[in-house]
Amino acid sequence: MRAVVLEQQGQPLKPVDLPDPVPGPGQLLLEVQACGVCRTDLHLRDAEIEAGKLPVVLGHQIVGTTEDGRRVGVPWLGYTDGECRYCRTDRENLCVNARFTGSDIDGGYAERTVADERFCLPLPDDLSAEQAAPLLCGGLIGYRALRFTGDAATLGLFGFGSAAHMICQVAVHQGREVYAFTRPGDERTQKFAKSLGATWAGGTDEAPPVQLDAAIIFAPAGELVPGALKLLAPGGTVVCAGIHMSDIPSFAYEDLWHERTIRSVANLTRRDGEEFIALAPKVPVRTTITKYPLEQAETALADLRAGRFEGTAVIVP
Ligand SMILES: [Zn+2]
Ligand SMILES: [Zn+2]
Repeated sequence: MRAVVLEQQGQPLKPVDLPDPVPGPGQLLLEVQACGVCRTDLHLRDAEIEAGKLPVVLGHQIVGTTEDGRRVGVPWLGYTDGECRYCRTDRENLCVNARFTGSDIDGGYAERTVADERFCLPLPDDLSAEQAAPLLCGGLIGYRALRFTGDAATLGLFGFGSAAHMICQVAVHQGREVYAFTRPGDERTQKFAKSLGATWAGGTDEAPPVQLDAAIIFAPAGELVPGALKLLAPGGTVVCAGIHMSDIPSFAYEDLWHERTIRSVANLTRRDGEEFIALAPKVPVRTTITKYPLEQAETALADLRAGRFEGTAVIVP
């Protein structure tokens, strides 16, 4: 089969021919219809986080069809042991033996892949594969981050890429006001945020007209955290939603005082996936996508790094 592999971190992805994967016990063989590109793929490519194995086929937002014709989604969480203290307390996202798709397990930048059936999400038929793919990481880990903002009525989203463009729609649907922060001067993305229902959009160097009850930081830039903290109302929360972030600069305790919180979000549970896939058509979440053929996966990552598209890049083999 055709595939694109990361042989060495820090080096470009390479198109190759690989033998067809063979499903083990409990695994499904999937024809990949579409695979969304996540910033985590870029972090792996750029050696900002460690790959579980090398070489590895990246891609953990896979829409595939099974041999018996079902359509399923394969997310980042690819395996848990089911018995560690986290699995036993409903926190499988923190499983000590978790394995992740497209890092520990070959992912979806390929014509075919295999996945543990217990971690595959059934997908509704009325969404195209390309439209559904971005829901599988940006959407559902974004949704987990949104849950951690509680009932925040005013919500800041820092970094308006794949996850934010979906979570903005969910938050507006829930009756919240969204304040979108982009790179300073990025008027194209600010316009995009307003088109998806944001009340206000501006640069990270600007202040919104209200105090925020919560902020979600999707951009991998630690320097945004103290700035977001300063915009919070008392009792507010900053949720860091990415797997990697540059160092967070120090800040005055006064900015955290009055029960403000900073927290991270790690991975997902299967319940997050089921809840979000059920919720997305009700909003409805409309994904903005840019398609790339499989052999152009390296270009897709370069365009993500440079911020050349709005929404999500999707690889179509
Ligand atoms: Zn476990
Ligand atoms: Zn991801």
